[in-house]
Amino acid sequence: MSNNKIRVGIGYDLHRLEENRDLIIGGVKIPYEKGLLGHSDADVLVHAIIDALLGAVSLPDIGTLFPDTDEKYKDADSIKLLKQVYYMVKEKGFYIGNLDTNIIAQAPKMMPYIQEMKKVLSSILGLNLEDISIKAKTKEHLDAVGEKRAIEAQAVVLVYSV
Ligand code: ZN
Repeated sequence: MSNNKIRVGIGYDLHRLEENRDLIIGGVKIPYEKGLLGHSDADVLVHAIIDALLGAVSLPDIGTLFPDTDEKYKDADSIKLLKQVYYMVKEKGFYIGNLDTNIIAQAPKMMPYIQEMKKVLSSILGLNLEDISIKAKTKEHLDAVGEKRAIEAQAVVLVYSV
C-alpha cells in the first residue's frame, strides 16, 4: 500500500425483498411485511459499509472474505462481520474519519429507525454520532427498488493513519 495517510472507500449493495424474512438494516430490526433475502441476514446497509471499509484499505471485498457458499455465514449477523472488518482496518493502521451512507427504499419509511442505526454503528466503529450520516431516499416508484422489490444502500468512508 502507498504511504497515503488519508484514503477513501465506496460501497454499494442491493438485496431483494421477500416474504418470511426479517428486515434488518443498520443492525436494527424494522417491522415490515417483508425482509431482505440473502445468505446472511442481508443487512444491506452494513454490507455497503463493510465494502467501503475494505475498499479504503485495499482488502478483498465482502463476497470474497465471507463467501455465500460457506455455511459458516448462513444467516450470519452482519454486525459481527462489521466488527471483524473494523478490526482488519485497525490492523492495517487506519482509523475511521467519517462515514456517509444512503439507504434507497420505497418502503418502509426509514426515518424512525435512523437514530437507532447510528447508535449501533457508532458503538461498533468507535465513532461519534455526528461522524455518521445515514440518509434515506426513495426511487420515485421507478425500477425494482421503486416497486418495493428490493432495497439498495451506498456508503462512503474516509480512513486515516497517524
Ligand atoms: Zn449484501
